[in-house]
This record gives sequence, C-alpha cells and structure tokens, in this order.
Amino acid sequence: MIETQTLSQQQIQLAEQVTAHNYHPLPVVIESAEGAWVTDVDGRRYLDCLAGYSALNFGHGHPVLVAAAREQIERVTLTSRAFHTDKLGPFCRDLAALAGMEVVLPMNTGAEAVETAIKVSRKWGYDVKGVAADQANIIVFDGNFHGRTTTIVSFSTDPVARDGFGPFTPGFRIVPYGDVAAVEAAIDANTVAVLIEPIQGEAGVLIPPAGFLKAVRDVCTRENVLFVADEIQSGLGRTGSTFACELEGVVPDMYILGKALGGGIVPVSALVSSRAIMGVIRPGNHGSTFGGNPLACAIGHAVVALLETGEYQARAAALGEHLRKNLEALIGHGVVAVRSRGLWAGVDVDPNLMTGREVCERLMARGVLVKDTHGSTIRLAPPIVVEESDLDWMTEQLKAVLV
Ligand SMILES: *Cc1c(COP(=O)(O)O)cnc(C)c1O
Repeated sequence: MIETQTLSQQQIQLAEQVTAHNYHPLPVVIESAEGAWVTDVDGRRYLDCLAGYSALNFGHGHPVLVAAAREQIERVTLTSRAFHTDKLGPFCRDLAALAGMEVVLPMNTGAEAVETAIKVSRKWGYDVKGVAADQANIIVFDGNFHGRTTTIVSFSTDPVARDGFGPFTPGFRIVPYGDVAAVEAAIDANTVAVLIEPIQGEAGVLIPPAGFLKAVRDVCTRENVLFVADEIQSGLGRTGSTFACELEGVVPDMYILGKALGGGIVPVSALVSSRAIMGVIRPGNHGSTFGGNPLACAIGHAVVALLETGEYQARAAALGEHLRKNLEALIGHGVVAVRSRGLWAGVDVDPNLMTGREVCERLMARGVLVKDTHGSTIRLAPPIVVEESDLDWMTEQLKAVLV
C-alpha cells in the first residue's frame, strides 16, 4: 500500500489508538516551538494563542528560563523535602515578596495547590477560628474551574467535569459569580473561606462586575473568613499586572499559583500566604514528593525574577490594549462580545455563524492556534513575548474566518 498519510496524520492516528480520550485536541502535531510560535511535524508554523492555558506566559523556550533549567539539571534535580536544598529558600523568599506575603508552600500542579488551599483553610478554621470538628464550609462560585481532583470536581457546576465521579466531598456552597449578597447569605459561623477566581478563565474569561471582588473581600474580613484567590491562570502577568486581584485593589489572604510559575518547563504550583495562616500546617500534615524540588525552584525563581522588573506586566497591558481594540473592531462582524483584561480575551462568536470549535479549526488552517470554551466562545491568551504585528496578523485571520 502506498503511504499517503502526512506525518501529522500518522501521529494523530497513533495517539488516538494509545491514549485515553480525555481531550479533543485540534488536529495539529507540534514538534518544536520558540517564543510565540510553534512548528508542526510537517513543517507548518502556527501562532500559539493559547500559551498552554497561560503556563507559557513567557513564551516557548525563554532563554533565561531554559538556562536556569539547564544549569540546575546538571547540579541536582530532586532530593525530596526530607532534606533542604539551596534553591528552596531563595525561591520562596522572592515569590512571597512578589506577592506581598510571607510564606510559600510549594506543590506541583494547580489542582494540588487548590487542594492544599482547601486543607489549610479548613485547618485554619478548626485551629484558629474555632469551627467545630468536620463542620467547615467553603464558598465557591457557579462556573468555577479549580482543577480535576475528586474533591475539586465535587463543587464544579460543569456536568461534563462532574457527572459520574461521585460520591462527592461535602463542605462546599456554590453561589452565583458576581453576586455579593449571595456570598453574604451563604456565610455562616462555620465558613472558613471564599475560594474565587478573580477572573473566570475556563468559563470564558468572565470578568466580575466592578467592585465585586472588593465587596467580597470586605465581607470576608468582617466575617473572619479567608479570601482565597485562585490566580493559577489569571496571575503572573497575564492581565497586565502581577495578580488580577491587584486590578481591583484587593489583597487576598492566600494566593494559589501555578501554570506560568513553572515557565512552561515543569509543573510548579504554590500557595502563598501569611505566617499566621500557613502556621496551622505542621510536619506530617501535608507534603509532596516533588513539591519544592530544586529544579522546580530554580525555574520558579527565574520566573519570579522576570516578573520583578514589571516589564512583562507592562507589555501584557500595552499589547492587551492593542488586542482589545483589534477585537472590538470585529463586533458586529461575526463577533457579538469581547471581554478582556491584559493579554487575555474571551471572544463570543455569533452562534448562528459557527461553533467555537469550527472557528478554532479554521484558524488552525490559517496558522493560528486557539481554544474554544463553552459553545461559541474562543479564548485568546498568546504568550506575553508575542509581537504587536503578530496580534494584527492573528486578527486578520480571525476576520477572514468570520466573514
Ligand atoms: C488550570 C487551572 C487549575 C488547575 O491546574 P492544573 O495544573 O491543571 O491542575 C486550577 N485553577 C485554575 C483557575 C486554572 O486555570
């Protein structure tokens, strides 16, 4: 038989045979990448406008991050937390300082850091607030995305993420996103935390009404409830500031960080908080074999150093403004709404025109990689190293697809 498949088709067929179908990827097979651009196995180039769900805020193969990784790989990569390393302290010190906090608890994936935040909040509730044993509750929001563990999907409102995975973990109360009265009404004497995304990414880059985060912060302070900000996707430069909470003048009790903290090289997540709150965790209460490993710390430390200059935040803000203008010009031309903060945009395409998936497939054919979410919304989050001319070119492709 004559071989007529492209290299991409061969790889896709192989992956479909030997992997679980927990994703529905676009039919592109990436082989290499640099900055904001990726190249597939057949030599085609694409502008990466997903950036690993913001894990690649600094782009593919950032030379400073690659150098930090390479240097550390040759020294020591893993010791377990049974021993100290010379990389843990400096990373955690500088990350805490970047966040205006005191103490870091390093983990690996985002979901693990969310689980850690839930554990710390509950233990704080019992040890400090005085909640009766096993009675703690945590307020969460409609449309949330905090990860994929059994406890986290227990309070997901997405049936695809949740159905079939029970029995579920109790102790969560779901209220509408953006409704401060509902938050107040859901709080009782056993409430230990409000767990919130300052901008809901997976839900379609949903930005809460102005003043909402501040109002929730005030309620939390008044009721002695922890304000826990999941900034795994919104944090570390994406929105044009270090944290999305900053845009609303809000200081949380805990930040949950991940994604870009590992520079797109290794998974690095962390809980960042005060000494008083984190102090409830004692040796043996929590841990992770890989959490805080020296390779992760070396890369995370280099990421923090990139953010300390403010250069990336400023670039995301400036390019974001440009992107917003570009996208708003498409409203009425196949686009019904645009929501954006910094270099992060949710674009609602006219559902009568085509689905979000179709937009993504057609953009792919034109050399732009994006991801749809919830029907006819596409989400744009290119690496912050993207060029303004790339954004203009991408907008041209989107326009061509929608016309
Ligand atoms: C991606 C994400 C998570 C989960 O992170 P993983 O590394 O995939 O476990 C949690 N919360 C938010 C807001 C996210 O965007």
